[in-house]
This record gives sequence, C-alpha cells and structure tokens, in this order.
Amino acid sequence: MVQETPAGTKVTFVDHVLNRPVEIYADIIGLASAVVPNDNTALSKLFKVPVNAEGFFLEAHLKLRPVDFGTDGVFMCGLAHGPKNLEENIAQAKAAAGRAATALAKENIQTDGKAAFVNKRKCVACGVCVEVCPAKAATLVTDERGNTAADVNPALCKGCGACSSSCRSGAINVKGCSNEQIMAMVQVVSW
Ligand code: SF4
Ligand code: SF4
Repeated sequence: MVQETPAGTKVTFVDHVLNRPVEIYADIIGLASAVVPNDNTALSKLFKVPVNAEGFFLEAHLKLRPVDFGTDGVFMCGLAHGPKNLEENIAQAKAAAGRAATALAKENIQTDGKAAFVNKRKCVACGVCVEVCPAKAATLVTDERGNTAADVNPALCKGCGACSSSCRSGAINVKGCSNEQIMAMVQVVSW
C-alpha cells in the first residue's frame, strides 16, 4: 500500500521472507523496471536457436518443451527466455538442468534411423549443407590426408532433408529417402 504522509511517501508491504508487514519511506517507487534483451543474433546463429520478435530466445514448444530448443542438447532458462520473477527463474533453471541431466546420464543415445549421410567422393565441400542444416548436424571435416568433406552427426540430425535437397552434387542423402529412392517412387506414381 502506498500513502502520502507529512513525512514522505510511505510504502507498506508484507515481506515474504520475514513474513510480517514492513513500512518504508521511499523517495522513488519503481513498480516495474524494463527488461530488454541483449543483441542475441550471434549466439542464436552459433547454436542455431531462434529468438522471438523482442529478441528473447524462443522455446521449442510453450507447453510440451518449455526449456528445450529445436536443436537437441541446447536448453535455456531465466531472463534469456523473457522477463520473469526469481521463483520462476529458479524453477526454470532446475527444469533445464534436469533436461540436460537426462541426456548426460545415458551411456548411449539411440538415434532416429532417418539420418543424413554423405558420399564423400561426390562432396565438393561447398558448405551449403552446413549452412542450411537447422539442427547444426552437418559440418565440414578435414581428414588426415587433407581432404575436406561434409560430415553428419546422426545424433543431431532430424532427417529433414534440407541438406539433401540443397546439395548440387547429390552427395548427401537421408537414409530411406535417397534421391534414387524418391525418383523411383516418382516414376512408379507417374506410370
Ligand atoms: S552441399 Fe553437398 S557438396 Fe556441398 S558440402 Fe554438403 S554434401 Fe558436400
Ligand atoms: S537431414 Fe536436416 S537435420 Fe539432418 S543433416 Fe540434413 S539438414 Fe541437417
């Protein structure tokens, strides 16, 4: 409660730690200070995670995956996600730590069978698949002979096919959906 008194502006509130009413005389009352994000563009590109229109990081699903990103293995909590009070920040931090622990506690991770794979003989290391991969699964790797080619981490790959459809060399395919298999299906349908 705020009251103007001869001695100044009196604010009365219940301190939830002391669990009793407290009175203070305030010079300035700030009901809510603005919380604005930093420029998260670089971080967003680095981890391939999205930000919303205000510049805060955007979760994979508001209700089903509230501390996850679409990119596996990256979690968030706190003000990175948006303005919230301390209790919510702590609860969200515990949730993010719990989600990370579920992955770290496993000795092995089962991957989806529909992962992309690279034919290194055809790959010209143009890097297009690395650019388009939304899951940060594709990278360019140089072997001990100095040959550079794309490589896919199947644990991160979502099998979306963006790399395969963007590769001009036809060097990268998704298991079960290779270019040859799709063309064979198209031919069967067109007959
Ligand atoms: S887009 Fe194709 S050719 Fe280019 S790096 Fe990826 S797999 Fe290799
Ligand atoms: S199939 Fe999708 S997720 Fe997998 S490497 Fe290609 S672009 Fe990335």
